[in-house]
Order: sequence, then C-alpha cells, then structure tokens
Amino acid sequence: MGERPRVLLLHTGGTLGMRRRADGSYAPEAGALAEALAGLPELARAPLPQLDLVEFEPLLDSSDMRPADWQHIADALAERLPHVAGAVVVHGTDTMAYTASALSFLLAGLDRPVVLTGAQIPLVEVRSDARENLVTALLLASDARLREVAVYMSGRLLRGNRCTKVSSAGFDAFDSPNLPALAEVGVDVRWRDALLRPAAAPPLRALRLRSVPVVALRLFPGITGATLRQVLRDPVRGLVLETYGAGNAPTRDDDLLAAIEEATARGVVIVNVTQCLRGTVRMDSYAAGRGLLAAGVVSGGDMTAEAALTKLTVLLSQPLEPPEVARRMAVDLAGERSDDAAAAGAVA
Ligand code: ASP
Repeated sequence: MGERPRVLLLHTGGTLGMRRRADGSYAPEAGALAEALAGLPELARAPLPQLDLVEFEPLLDSSDMRPADWQHIADALAERLPHVAGAVVVHGTDTMAYTASALSFLLAGLDRPVVLTGAQIPLVEVRSDARENLVTALLLASDARLREVAVYMSGRLLRGNRCTKVSSAGFDAFDSPNLPALAEVGVDVRWRDALLRPAAAPPLRALRLRSVPVVALRLFPGITGATLRQVLRDPVRGLVLETYGAGNAPTRDDDLLAAIEEATARGVVIVNVTQCLRGTVRMDSYAAGRGLLAAGVVSGGDMTAEAALTKLTVLLSQPLEPPEVARRMAVDLAGERSDDAAAAGAVA
C-alpha cells in the first residue's frame, strides 16, 4: 500500500471545535479540536489521509468573519496547498457560504480540493454531526477529482460559491439551489463528474483584497429613493440588490430608479440577484425589471447573494474600472453562475 496522502486541516473556528462554557453557550477554544482528535485514534489511519493541523489564532465564531479573515485563509491555503493533496477548512456554518464563495474567487490557479466543513453540534458532544462531516471531508479533500472550493455537510458535497445556509438547526444546513451536488455521499460516493471544474492554470496564488465599501440590500415593499440614496452614499462602490422574482423592482416611484441611475452614473456597480431561493434574474421579462436594466444595473443571473457579494468585493479590490467590474460580474468566473441557456432550465 502506498503512503497515505497528506491533507491540511485548517481550523478557523465554528461549532465543530467549540466547547460549552459555564453559562451553557458554545464558544471556540484553542486546542480543543486537537484534543478531541487525539481521542479519536481511528482518524489517524487509512483510509484517512495524514493530517497537518493548523489552528488560527483567534478561533472565530463565523459570525465574526470579515473580508480580512477570507484573505488570511486564502493566504494560508496558497502557501500550504502545494505541499499537500488538498485542504479541509473547519469553519462555522453561519457565514461558511460567504467564505467558500470568497475563496473560490481569491484562489487563482487552484488545482486541488479545498473542502469547507463544520457542524451543528460540537465534536466533543455525543450526538454530534461533526465526526461524519470531518471524516468525509478529509476523504473528499484527498480525491484528485476535485479541483475547486466546495462545502461538505451531511452527505452532500456542494460547490462553494453555489451554496447557501438554509437551516439553523438541521444537520443538512446547506443547499445549492441552482446546481446539483457535486457528489452525494451514502454507502458509496456518487460523483457528478460532468459538473466538476477542470484544474485552473498554475501558479496557485491568492488575490489581494482591499477594503472596498460594498453593501447588500434586500428590496422591500415601500422602499424609497431616499433610503436607497442613503445606502449608496459615497464611498460605497458596489451594491448587491436583492430583488423580487425574476429581478424586478417597484416602478411606481420614479425616485427609486433615479437614485439607482445616479449611483451607476457615478460608477457604483449594482448587481441584481433574486430574493428567490431558486431561479435566475431576467431583467427583460417584465417592465419592472427593464427599469433596472435601463438604470445601469447588472444581472447577477442565478448567483447566490453570497457569491455576488464576495465576487463584487474581490473584483472591486483589483485595479479594474467599474465597466470592467460590471462586465465580469455578468459572466461566469469560477462556476458561480449558469449561462442563460442553462439557467432557463433551472435545476429542480
Ligand atoms: N455560530 C456558529 C458559527 O458559525 C454556528 C456553526 O458553526 O454552525 O461559527
């Protein structure tokens, strides 16, 4: 038998490695994951890979993650991935979809697996979902078929920039509403080979993030132009606008569209994603969508709000003019959006 592959286990925080405090709440604790792993000797032999455990300081509840933390994770991966078969990133589930999306845009030249996983109940608890998530994520992260950023939870491997957290308490916390799972894990692992991304051209490197003011706003009945102007005030450079249905916004209030048009004219990139869990934005379907199109809003297609926000942040951090950022938002860069034909037959 050949030598077991090595996999990087990057612990950033989250419930998986947490311990219960005296007041009954869970919080991250340095060294707790290493201690728990030492108590599971079966994780130290084949078929599992050899582990290089790296623990971040401080460990975070993922609600505390910021773009600077995405950069920290991307840098650690770019530095260490060339020496291992792949990586598992242990991360809280609350903002895992954001971090997974951000990593998919930040890691250029990725040619091996990066699998984010977490748990709803810590590894040290008896009824925990952490052991299965961790074991399977480690196996998937040593499979050379996978050459992208993915999320593994509760039997399904999802593309990182396609997933969203859909349950605060279920073990199946994530869904990938517009793309089937990359693999379904039961007695066997069933891969959807046709969906897997090809290896990107080397070298592997982490793009740089700058502190760019980007905001997300969910439209609601009664929103006014004045509110939008407040949100879009300088120095905001990008907005992910979560619209109704196929990408629609109110049209009875001229001032609302005027506020949007003023911002796009100033070079603010506004991206339209739908509030619906499934389906895509088609701004030409309704008059209510055409108004946005005419005001210079870019279609986010079937991107999740998490993918749109992180992609916009990464693109606005690069030395690109707003029209080029808008152009790239409208095309697929890392498997995050379907082309229009594919989206038309949206995945059930
Ligand atoms: N609040 C936790 C976190 O996101 C929840 C979890 O890990 O599932 O870090």
